[in-house]
Amino acid sequence: MIHIPPNSDFSIHNLPFGIFSTQGSAPKVGIAVGAHILDLTALSRCHKFDFDSSVFQKPFLNDFISLGKEKTVQLRKDIQSWIKDKNSVLYHNKDLFVSQADSKMHLPVRVGDYTDFYSSLEHATNVGKMFRDPKNALLPNWKHIPVAYHGRASSIIPSGQSIFRPKGQVVPTGATQPVYQPTESLDFELEMAYIIGKENKLGQTISTEEAEEYIFGMVIFNDWSARDIQKWEYVPLGPFLGKNFASSISPWVVPLEALDPFRVKGPTQEPEVLPYLQYEGMKNYDIKLEVGITPENTSERIVSRSNFKHMYWNMVQQLAHHTTNGCNVRVGDMIASGTISGTEASSFGSMLELSWAGTKPIKMHDGSERKFLHDGDTVTMRAFSEKGHIRVGFGEVLTKIKSHI
Ligand code: MN
Repeated sequence: MIHIPPNSDFSIHNLPFGIFSTQGSAPKVGIAVGAHILDLTALSRCHKFDFDSSVFQKPFLNDFISLGKEKTVQLRKDIQSWIKDKNSVLYHNKDLFVSQADSKMHLPVRVGDYTDFYSSLEHATNVGKMFRDPKNALLPNWKHIPVAYHGRASSIIPSGQSIFRPKGQVVPTGATQPVYQPTESLDFELEMAYIIGKENKLGQTISTEEAEEYIFGMVIFNDWSARDIQKWEYVPLGPFLGKNFASSISPWVVPLEALDPFRVKGPTQEPEVLPYLQYEGMKNYDIKLEVGITPENTSERIVSRSNFKHMYWNMVQQLAHHTTNGCNVRVGDMIASGTISGTEASSFGSMLELSWAGTKPIKMHDGSERKFLHDGDTVTMRAFSEKGHIRVGFGEVLTKIKSHI
């Protein structure tokens, strides 16, 4: 039987899907099990699946996800029982597994479209206080609409891929005219994102009740932001070049079903939302989040501890709202939550908030200070859920910042 360390993110309760390669192999579909990866192409040579198993040899999960939840949920259930079953093909066949240490992870899905919500009340309030009016931080629409914008899919990158400090048009402090220069306020945004697993037709809406059928799974999402570029450009049409230079994601897609034990009640929504945004049941998830900054030549400093359960608008409300005008979503589309900030200053999900627009610098272990991120810094985000003996984790998304090109 494959050994799974008790504190592993990739427990038998998780079984997330990803795209991996080993030396000499093309990228293909695998499942993380402890410190190993179950090679589904190898498994399909010893087991006949009731679907076309060539989906496991693809460089993205899209075709596999398109099989539908009936097949993908069943596969996870089968593998869960085979890992423990002495008579199963998995139990004795160590050749079906490769070590994660010997593998390279790739972008898990071909992302067609990417949407970024703005669903944390605390984050929206903090940003409103800093950029607009401390007394009237929330705009009048915020508690009625899950606010979002369309982002750019082409620059979504996997964990491990470095980013370059972007250049852009900014207005330096004290100046009135813009200049073109490397951003001086490079920031992360701590987010989670879900991946669409089923498409709706153009013109067809998805209700809050149906929405979970359309959500395949989740990843950690770091929505890189250049605050000075963003500040100058965002009026009146919203985020553009201050955002679209990169977003980094964790490589393992945790199926929504694996998160079932961690459902919690969401915050009370007052005023009452319109009927199409109302929902039943527990649609928030208790997922613990942390962000660390590792400057070059020193150890990591954890700068934020937050939780996905803080979200004001949940995923089913976001998807119902996204399709309420008949907009169609497709398999592989990525829908991000928006920065996840808690109520405490230590749980804010961006440097903008943690350093309160640069007025409260954060000390690193080597004594250096950060208002925003420096070249050479590595930002690592981690996420996991735990309840009793059940642990389901996302691993991490790690990115190093290189100087501008
Ligand atoms: Mn964002």
